[in-house]
Amino acid sequence: MAELVCTECMRMVVVQPRVNFMGFPKFQCPLCRHQATHPLATWRLVVYAIIAGLGVIGTVAMMAQGGIPIMGVIPALMMAAVIINFGVKSRVDAAMIRARSNPPPPR
Ligand SMILES: [Zn+2]
Repeated sequence: MAELVCTECMRMVVVQPRVNFMGFPKFQCPLCRHQATHPLATWRLVVYAIIAGLGVIGTVAMMAQGGIPIMGVIPALMMAAVIINFGVKSRVDAAMIRARSNPPPPR
């Protein structure tokens, strides 16, 4: 279990997040039923960035050899996840600031 912020009702909730297919922790807020997405774990972000980087290098190498530049699906997905993570993180950071000023949820 982890204490996470809901990006919809801006409150701290204790939940058991699940990881979606791209590796983002997701959970349903027990207070407002919103499906909240949280940023990637740091280790996951690092692994994704390395694989995406290798994918880019591989694609550039293919082009340099006159081949057709096709980026693998996995590096492309991981690069997309790294980009999406920026948006998710800024939303969660904003929610965290709001959650700190919100009163605790009614019991
Ligand atoms: Zn909520």
